[in-house]
Amino acid sequence: RAKERGRNSYQFFTSDMNARALEHMALEHGMRRALERDEFRLAYQPIVDLETREPVGMEALVRWTHPQLGEVPPGRFIPVAEDCGLIGRLGEWVLTEACRQLSAWRREGITVQRLAVNISSRQFYDPQLVDRIQDILASSGIAPTDLSLELTERTLIDDVEGSTGILTRLHELGLEIALDDFGTGYSALGFLKRFPIQLLKVDASFVNDIALDDDDAALVEGIVTLAHNLGLKVVAEGVENLDQVHLLAGYGCDYAQGYFFARPLSAQQMTDVLLQGQGLSARKFNRDRAGT
Ligand code: C2E
Ligand code: MG
Ligand code: MG
Ligand code: MG
Repeated sequence: RAKERGRNSYQFFTSDMNARALEHMALEHGMRRALERDEFRLAYQPIVDLETREPVGMEALVRWTHPQLGEVPPGRFIPVAEDCGLIGRLGEWVLTEACRQLSAWRREGITVQRLAVNISSRQFYDPQLVDRIQDILASSGIAPTDLSLELTERTLIDDVEGSTGILTRLHELGLEIALDDFGTGYSALGFLKRFPIQLLKVDASFVNDIALDDDDAALVEGIVTLAHNLGLKVVAEGVENLDQVHLLAGYGCDYAQGYFFARPLSAQQMTDVLLQGQGLSARKFNRDRAGT
């Protein structure tokens, strides 16, 4: 059909497909090599209590610098890892590294209450997942209650029966389950009741404009109320300014995460900040009171 539209569109069509196929191949090859050479890294971003302004934990976010392409965002390579079956190895590396880092911080006397790790769809439905998580926790000396797993609605909705079973096992082990990017999927709200979830992360796209758009504000406030009525805690994602902080606190939102508090930091940067005595919360609290 592309051919009928003339030679130019046909060429455009194929070259676009080729470009995508080539990028896919380059990323797949690059990820295999990066796994062998241990070239992935984790960045850490604090999740802050909106009442105390203290960090209650942090989210681990995978980072990768490709030798030619430079820094590739996870939004680009995670889907490729899912497609080509590398997500199992990558996801396992992320879990192992996050637990190793958490236990290293604790040995240094640094308090990090809880670490959140993102789990993608294929990784979640791997029948080995629960056993592997238990092994990783056991060998790193991390308690299940120290770990939070972030899943999207899309992942859970793929197989409601199956995912309920897996979540129940994880929850019974003591792990916290968080629903990530809430609002971007198409889940009926009834799912919130059905799944054993403790935390709702409201997607940044709803949080962005709460200070500018009454509809967005009403939506986020409504989500917070609904979540609380169901016994869930709420994190607002992508919080970038003080207006948002004040509004969210007014809605009774429990926690916030975003550039206003801190960008994702390397393990070393995070260690430095946490060792500076006052830590993140005091810095931000001062900034808040200064009104900047
Ligand atoms: P996510 O889990 O919703 O993570 C939050 C994303 O928002 C991160 O992007 C973070 O850097 C970004 N962010 C945080 N605060 C702000 C802010 O104030 N403003 C803006 N504009 N962005 C903010 P990142 O690191 O690029 O990750 C993107 C997505 O890739 C994640 O979304 C998650 O779905 C996925 N991902 C990241 N690391 C992993 C991982 O280790 N495993 C899996 N399976 N997925 C991961
Ligand atoms: Mg997440
Ligand atoms: Mg998210
Ligand atoms: Mg996201």
